[in-house]
Amino acid sequence: MINETMYGLGNEPSAIRELFAYGMARKAEIGEDAVFDYSIGNPSVPAPEKVRETILQLMEEDPVALHGYTPASGDPRVKQVIADYIAERYGVPATPGNLYLTAGAAAAIAISLAAITHPGDEVIVISPYFPEYKTWIDNAGCTIVEVSAAVPSFQIDTQAVADAITEKTAAIIINTPNNPVGAVYTAETLEALAAVLTAKEEELGHPIYLISDEPYREITYGAEVPYVPCLYPHTIVCYSYSKALSLPGERIGYIYVSDLMEDAAEVSCAVAGAGRALGYICAPALLQRVIAECIDLPSDVEAYAANRALLTEGLAALGYEYVEPDGAFYLWVRALEEDAQAFSDRAKEFELLLVPSDSFGVGGWVRLSYCIARDVIERSMPAFKALKESYEA
Ligand code: PLP
Repeated sequence: MINETMYGLGNEPSAIRELFAYGMARKAEIGEDAVFDYSIGNPSVPAPEKVRETILQLMEEDPVALHGYTPASGDPRVKQVIADYIAERYGVPATPGNLYLTAGAAAAIAISLAAITHPGDEVIVISPYFPEYKTWIDNAGCTIVEVSAAVPSFQIDTQAVADAITEKTAAIIINTPNNPVGAVYTAETLEALAAVLTAKEEELGHPIYLISDEPYREITYGAEVPYVPCLYPHTIVCYSYSKALSLPGERIGYIYVSDLMEDAAEVSCAVAGAGRALGYICAPALLQRVIAECIDLPSDVEAYAANRALLTEGLAALGYEYVEPDGAFYLWVRALEEDAQAFSDRAKEFELLLVPSDSFGVGGWVRLSYCIARDVIERSMPAFKALKESYEA
């Protein structure tokens, strides 16, 4: 007998992937240029040249060693490079024993949740949130507790977090810079969150781990992104090179259990155990080596910054309401009717693919992914105009 829950997950693609698949089919039908696809967050900037050069150089090495298994948590030399980088960049005492290399942030979050929760625990997320959090929390046997972000800033409503914490709260997941709203949490917000969590830990007598999901850390437009372990010791960083180096299909990232955590060794051991239990051992070996060589490459955010300006100026001129993004490459736009799915369906009639907000845990908005070719944004403006006019007729 197959597992019905897993069947359900397999049978129901995420709203984002469903729209992306629809877009592929629609492009095949009416032409690539006729569809304005704002569905998925696939970086439109190529990986840096040094990534290509490094792969070519690595190809000269002994293939048996190059393509062989690394230890389950990653190549010790690579872990040392990452630990040194974290220590130098953020001024924290980072050691390789607290790193676990993973196939992207997705695996990192699933492993972290399995490592620090028990079935029946509660995990807080800030809504709107990345939809897969629910899948991973459910799979850990835990209950998702949604806390609305503060409006209109979309920073964390720390009082609401405090109110949502119970004796069952094991963790909170935060994501900054944020998908889908583009908010970057300020030091003030994170300090207030740390104060709330610390006070609740004392009151409840058990740790509340903060999972900091950071695939967009490098994608910002001038905003500073504070390093969460500096502010709250019980932090587990889930980092990824998917967006930073435009390598989403290569699946490489890591878990970093803060060295400032008093029980870091135990938590890291549980992370290793969870990785083992879930079958997430030995992240792609070639990519581990690439990361060691390319760790300090800056992300190329110029194209995203230009897209962001073009899209926000265009939509503002048409009278759309949106949240000004400080990071990541998504725009959170108010739907022109309450039912976000109905609005997304209407947008499709104008060949605009906009992800409805429902799967992010809130109604009434759509997410536009603007890591796309600039000319798509330019050419889509008449469609946005026509969509708006269709509500005014
Ligand atoms: N978390 C957020 C907020 C994301 O947007 C994504 C991917 O888009 C992930 C995690 C997963 O990223 P990765 O490709 O590193 O698994």
